[in-house]
Amino acid sequence: MSKDASQTFPPAGTDALSRVREQCTQCGLCVKECAFLARHGTPLDIADRYATGRGPCPQMPFECSLCGLCTAVCLQSLPLDQMFLAMRRAAVSRGCRVYGTDCVFLGYEQRGVSRHLSFYALPTGCDTVFFPGCSLPATRPGLTYRLLRHLQRFTPRLGVVLDCCTKPSHDLGRQGYFEAMFGEMRAFLLSSGVRRVIVACPNCHKIFSSYGKGLSVTTVYEVLSGSRRSADRRPERGHVTVHDPCVFRFETSIQDLVRDTLREMGWEVSEMPHHGRTALCCGEGASVSCVAPDLAHTWTRLRAAEAGRQRVVTYCTGCSELLSGSVDAVHLLDLVFGRVVGSRRQRLRSLFPLTCVNRLRLKERLRREFSGARVRERTFAADAGERQYGLTRNRLSLLVSLAISKLFALRR
Ligand code: SF4
Ligand code: SF4
Repeated sequence: MSKDASQTFPPAGTDALSRVREQCTQCGLCVKECAFLARHGTPLDIADRYATGRGPCPQMPFECSLCGLCTAVCLQSLPLDQMFLAMRRAAVSRGCRVYGTDCVFLGYEQRGVSRHLSFYALPTGCDTVFFPGCSLPATRPGLTYRLLRHLQRFTPRLGVVLDCCTKPSHDLGRQGYFEAMFGEMRAFLLSSGVRRVIVACPNCHKIFSSYGKGLSVTTVYEVLSGSRRSADRRPERGHVTVHDPCVFRFETSIQDLVRDTLREMGWEVSEMPHHGRTALCCGEGASVSCVAPDLAHTWTRLRAAEAGRQRVVTYCTGCSELLSGSVDAVHLLDLVFGRVVGSRRQRLRSLFPLTCVNRLRLKERLRREFSGARVRERTFAADAGERQYGLTRNRLSLLVSLAISKLFALRR
């Protein structure tokens, strides 16, 4: 459902620690589900150690995937993810830097917000923009373009924004940086008359719905369902299972709609033991692999074991790319737009720095498409003077990508 965000920068997790200390019964339900908790103790133990200053070691909260499975199984619905996020923020504000400058997620984010890769195009009278996020344009530029054209059928003055919502920084506790970057984007959109954002990525959805005061947010899955895109196509036959992204674990209406879309297309849908509210993280959540790759792999292994040999359909590009290394995983949009290329080929397309080339080429295509629109590239940088993540890799990849894109442009 569309959401009208009601808050700007809520102080996440300020009361989560005290709630856990007061209400956790140490029943162990969450510990049974989570390798991270099994390693560090019950939430009450962790919260008590933290509150009394006997630890934890600064790395501990960065090993939690912030996936929310614990909250889903807890009879008190205790917000452990909020507690660990608050600990991450406190650690960062004390100057703890547990992730290195080679953190791939922050490098990815910095490329996303760069002048080279960002692009805004707002036609006259535009009040709605399509915000595809980072991963979809990076891995499926053609599909992103077809999706945009499809959305334009229903919103003729639709604008487009290629940028990063900076959720990696949000989840890593870099709240000051996140607020400055997301706040600048939000202010620009609002001052330009934009009031509605259509997102493809569940993480972008979470950020816009939590922090995008003044902007309503909806997903492409809701729009596609309304436009019956799937019904336009030849019926499929076969059997699939659904991996729900953990940021959507409480979005039951979107989960139902994804299954309805698949069934409308002719697919038989079966469920894995963990799905919907109890979905498992794919392993990419909250950049855990930067500090505890073994825990990240544990989540991926669990998900792959439940999927077995079934084809897994997901509606998050990050999940789809990560899981396709272990199982036959496809993005729902691949099925809706009829371009399933197979895990191996899709993984080749998603190799770095091809992802940069894909984004640059899409940007050039959009620049031509929106020739009469108001355009901008992101030049605002909140981290001037701060350390850079993946700087050499970013510079090199942009250089190589620019060269390859120019070559393609010359051959066109
Ligand atoms: S949010 Fe996920 S990783 Fe963190 S404690 Fe809960 S279940 Fe474990
Ligand atoms: S499930 Fe809830 S009450 Fe039980 S140990 Fe976990 S946080 Fe505590």
